[in-house]
Amino acid sequence: MQITTSPSSSPASDERVAEILADPGFGKHFTDHMLTLEWTPEAGWHGGRIEAYGPLSLDPATAVLHYAQETFEGMKAYRHPDGSIWSFRPEANAARMVRSSHRLAFPELPVEDFVQAVDALVAADQRWVPTPDGGENALYLRPFMFASETFLGVRPAEHVTFMVIASPAGAYFKGGIKPVTLWLSEHLTRAGRGGMGAAKTGGNYAASLAAQREGMAKGCDQVVFLDATEGRYVEELGGMNLFFVHADGTIVTPETGTILEGITRASIIELAGHQGHKVEERRFSIDEWREGVASGAITEVFACGTAAVITPVGAVLSEHGEIAAAPGSEVTMALREELVGIQFGRAEDPFGWMHRIV
Ligand SMILES: *Cc1c(COP(=O)(O)O)cnc(C)c1O
Repeated sequence: MQITTSPSSSPASDERVAEILADPGFGKHFTDHMLTLEWTPEAGWHGGRIEAYGPLSLDPATAVLHYAQETFEGMKAYRHPDGSIWSFRPEANAARMVRSSHRLAFPELPVEDFVQAVDALVAADQRWVPTPDGGENALYLRPFMFASETFLGVRPAEHVTFMVIASPAGAYFKGGIKPVTLWLSEHLTRAGRGGMGAAKTGGNYAASLAAQREGMAKGCDQVVFLDATEGRYVEELGGMNLFFVHADGTIVTPETGTILEGITRASIIELAGHQGHKVEERRFSIDEWREGVASGAITEVFACGTAAVITPVGAVLSEHGEIAAAPGSEVTMALREELVGIQFGRAEDPFGWMHRIV
């Protein structure tokens, strides 16, 4: 695939980059460049280019603004101790975008083109990949695809744009890892049978925001959603998957068909198996959670996703009382240490998950 590069005429100074990388926060600062590909039925994917980062000019009738035909991905580029730059399982993100594209009636962007596009932007903006210095700073990458056709009729768009932007990200937890408190959403759901729950699309996030606002008003960090049919089975958080560690070493993660299957989740399933745990993917009810913590059968609960990697989960609040925090975090922290070690090149990568970019 052809990608042309027009270097930015006003890149940030080295001093400015250093200042941003010293305290990047999340999703606030963007690199010098962005990558764009376009698709039409006649030409297929074409027009690959890297150019200066900046605002898009969109017709007010651009389809995505009205009907939300959109998918995205989230991944990171990690600087290793020898200065080389790597991504984590990028073909898994590419394959997930293909699956999301099927659900959103988009054309498929081939896996190798997705990986090439992400690599090209990271290579162009490599000075923006932080040195972790024993921490977890990395360059967050946001590939996304949207209906860019100017048309108010309702049908799959015939002009589609794929872009990659990048934003330096600090450690999710400043000043040490602490458990997140959850609000149980008993009325609002994020996904239903036959819906878009398994696709990574902005619409699912839009569906989660009112519950998120409810949770924040109750002093909670995140919301946990239940299945839309029975309101009994635990799905996931707005953007993180859940795991339940049991006293007998078994680890359970919800499987309902309407959750977004994270690449962190898939990696933890493999890693935990490798560490000798029995891992079950199955339906897991909110009653099983409450009773498991009360009886001591559940010793740890954690959530996972690219941004936070793994975070312990504390108490769950709801209109009908509270589920206490599970007492431990030993298995959680061991899995976290192992995964972060692989990503930052501080530990062996027995699974061949890392992909070298620079
Ligand atoms: C992206 C996402 C996750 C986590 O996926 P990772 O690939 O591990 O980052 C979990 N749930 C939802 C709804 C998501 O959009």
